[in-house]
Amino acid sequence: MADLPSDERQRLQALERYDILDTSSEQTFDRITRLVARVLDVPIATVTFLDAHRLWFKSQQGPASAEIPREGAFCDIAIRSAEPLVVPDALEDPRFAGQACVAGASGIRFYAGVPLVTPDRWAIGTLCAMDTRPRTVTPEDIAALQDFAAITIDALELRRLALLDGLTGALTRKGFREEAAKAVSLALRHQHDLTAIAFDLDHFKAVNDTYGHAAGDRVLADVVAACREVLRTTDLIGRVGGEEFTVILPHTPRKHAIAVAEKLRAAIAALPFQAGGRSFPVTASFGVASLERAMGGVEPLLDRADGVLQGAKQAGRNRVLAWEQPELEKATVRRRVLKAGRISFNDRRSSIDCTVRSLSDREAGLDVIASAGLPAKFELVIDADRFIRGCHVISQTERHIEVAFD
Ligand code: GH3
Ligand code: MG
Ligand code: MG
Repeated sequence: MADLPSDERQRLQALERYDILDTSSEQTFDRITRLVARVLDVPIATVTFLDAHRLWFKSQQGPASAEIPREGAFCDIAIRSAEPLVVPDALEDPRFAGQACVAGASGIRFYAGVPLVTPDRWAIGTLCAMDTRPRTVTPEDIAALQDFAAITIDALELRRLALLDGLTGALTRKGFREEAAKAVSLALRHQHDLTAIAFDLDHFKAVNDTYGHAAGDRVLADVVAACREVLRTTDLIGRVGGEEFTVILPHTPRKHAIAVAEKLRAAIAALPFQAGGRSFPVTASFGVASLERAMGGVEPLLDRADGVLQGAKQAGRNRVLAWEQPELEKATVRRRVLKAGRISFNDRRSSIDCTVRSLSDREAGLDVIASAGLPAKFELVIDADRFIRGCHVISQTERHIEVAFD
């Protein structure tokens, strides 16, 4: 029997690369288990992954639960060898006869499992065919199961390759867009802060030209590794272009994100690169932009971060720039406030109280007991702010007045 490597820690790391545990069902894997059930003529077929303590089923035909304990399970034996594990009748096999899953009329009597072995030889799971009756299998059945196991691994590998960048381990453009869209829609739904940081390595063409493409590749891998040291595991980092990256920081307001970007900048600038006996520095330029409700999705956010990044390049590189609301917009954006105010008129001889509900540099929204009889022009006074502005009414209802400042 061809033994597989048995280092459990490395095996779990290999499993983690596929980021598959506790994901929802996918057609590709359901098709495979359907085919296994049909071709081997069994009622139960599963694509199983072996976590440290449990078997978790990515796909299953027939009755089963989402996960079961790993201890003593058929699959736990099956992953120890590259050869298929075939148990014609579990009640006749001392390794399994006492297992809970074997007991009773609906217990598993027949088991055939082929390990799912990664290209670097880690058995991360199994493809299994099971029956509640004892039975035998033909060599053709086993060959078919082995083919389906190879297809399962290919599907996993493709899924992984499309989402993770091979050189740096960052998400690919595609993977990043998918994950970022999820994070942004969560943030919008639950009204959490979320900030994007775009960065691009400075004068990277010169690094390639001077030190060679292989040195450039090393720089890219090291830069991402250095960023990971700074970022939290829940942050996303994507390689969205050759030497362009985007980071998404969920639950992070603008101010904190600027500090994170500054840490990333410093971490990259401090990396010790060497080639041809010479050391050389690498720097990057950063653009920071926070999610706003009106953006509605991920694209406007990434566009904005990218726009700011271009500004950081023009401003001299190796720096962090954050998006600023243009002065004109700032002035017209109404803040929701709650302030005690007075409406003063008749040359300040008359005044009535109001509540200031919204305020910008140009306008305000005021609640009053009754708006009838108020003049069309008056002064708005907010004593606590020493604020006095002449204004005119733009619209009014019985208890609310919208005013523009003169
Ligand atoms: P700037 O500061 O304006 O960003 O200058 P730059 O030279 O970095 O800008 P530009 O975008 O023109 O050049 C990017 C270079 O990155 C071009 C290419 O040689 C290099 N590059 C892109 N992808 C890879 C890669 O996978 N490996 C290596 N070694 N270099 C890459
Ligand atoms: Mg560049
Ligand atoms: Mg570039």
